Amino acid sequence: MTENPHVRAQTLFAQSLVEGLGAAEQSWLDAHLRECAECAREAVNTRELLHAFRIVPVSVPNDLAARTQMRVRLRAQETARTSSGSTLLWVVTAASWLLGVLSAPLVWRGFEWIGAHLNLPKPALELGFVLWWTVPALLALAAVLHQRTVSNGIGGRSFSSDIKPR
Ligand SMILES: [Zn+2]
Repeated sequence: MTENPHVRAQTLFAQSLVEGLGAAEQSWLDAHLRECAECAREAVNTRELLHAFRIVPVSVPNDLAARTQMRVRLRAQETARTSSGSTLLWVVTAASWLLGVLSAPLVWRGFEWIGAHLNLPKPALELGFVLWWTVPALLALAAVLHQRTVSNGIGGRSFSSDIKPR
């Protein structure tokens, strides 16, 4: 076997960085690197180069990827919040409107009954009847506005973490 020992040393060294070596190969490599200044220097250069690669260009994209993922997740949450907010508005509005329409005769009879028993004036009854319809819609509007405020708060926080100096 006429393999060049220096070529073998470089091959084994590269292999040791990637997948590790068997004990016999590792001791042969250690012995060769002790004897051969050329291969030892080459090994040090390779190790330093790999180290530099690991420290600088790899860590930045990792961080960038993490921050991008974070931003995408926040954006998705924001979108989900906004769309669920408007869905909620539609559901509550439709439900309250439907409930109002369906229950109007019943409710009006109830108001009449209460008015007759409590001797309430008719304008008070009418006001109560109108409130029966408008209050759920107002509550829905308040809920949606509250959700908007909450998701805006999260958006602001993600922005300030973006410009934070590293
Ligand atoms: Zn050598």
